[in-house]
Parts: sequence; C-alpha cells; structure tokens
Amino acid sequence: MPQRTFSIVKPDAIRAGHAGAVLAELDKAGFRIVAIKKQSISKAQAEGFYYVHRERPFFAALTDFMSSGPLVLMVLEKENAIADLRKLMGATNPANAEEGTIRKKFATSIQENAIHGSDAEETAAFEIGYWFAGYELI
Ligand code: ATP
Ligand code: MG
Repeated sequence: MPQRTFSIVKPDAIRAGHAGAVLAELDKAGFRIVAIKKQSISKAQAEGFYYVHRERPFFAALTDFMSSGPLVLMVLEKENAIADLRKLMGATNPANAEEGTIRKKFATSIQENAIHGSDAEETAAFEIGYWFAGYELI
C-alpha cells in the first residue's frame, strides 16, 4: 500500500533557484505529488513545526532560517515513501551525504540543507496535518 510523507524544499534551495531541480529528483524517484504549495511562513509557524527541537542549541537559528523566505510544502506518496525519501535526501550534514542524494547536490551547510522529510509515520501524520487541510490532499 502506498504511504504518504511530508517534505519541504527549504528557503536556501528556493533562493538558489533549485526548486524545479529538487522536484525533478522526487519525480525521477517515483514520488507522486498529493499536495503542493509555495508559501512564506512566520517564525511562530516554524517554531510549532520544529517543536520537537525546541531544546536544541540550533532551534533559534533554524526557525529564523525556515522563516527567511518562501518554501515549497509538499505531501508525497509512494510505496515506502518515508524511508525512501530520507534515503534520497541524504545525511543532515551535506559533508556526510552520499553521492547522488539531494543534499549532496544542493545543500550548502548542516542548517541550509535544501530539503526536509518526515522521519516516521507519526511525524508524517503530524506534519501533513500541520500544513494541509484534508480537502487539499488529492
Ligand atoms: P529535517 O527534519 O529537516 O528533515 P533531519 O531530520 O535530517 O532534517 P534534524 O535532526 O531533524 O535533521 O534537524 C532538523 C533541521 O535542523 C536540519 O535539517 C537542519 O536544517 C537543522 N539542524 C540540525 N542539526 C543542526 C546543527 N547541528 N546546526 C544547525 N542546524 C542544524
Ligand atoms: Mg528531522
């Protein structure tokens, strides 16, 4: 059965003009776009989204970065979508990302790392519901 995951093309990749290239990688890997929107988010919205990281030393910088410019929010679907997207993204720090991964190609630092992907079924459900209404999922 197909599985859904949530993804963001982060502001660094949009600013660098890589949004289309990131979407092409997702397309090539067989992800179906269930929902997609380009949006700028507030600092408070970023804080709510990254709530699990609120105690981490990088929380303030991360939420500033995520609210620094437009991003592309997406719900994606395929068999094994959550794990397959994490693999396609590559390691959080692009210095450790494998050849061929999106972060290897487009990330510039551990913070400005081009793409987000949900890390588990429960987080995917939370993240999809945080950004999209049920009627937008088609
Ligand atoms: P994401 O949740 O965005 O898909 P991830 O699961 O690979 O990325 P997390 O540990 O969940 O990584 O961290 C969330 C985001 O916080 C990272 O993608 C990155 O933008 C930022 N981040 C993580 N660790 C650091 C760090 N040590 N310094 C600065 N920013 C960081
Ligand atoms: Mg994460």
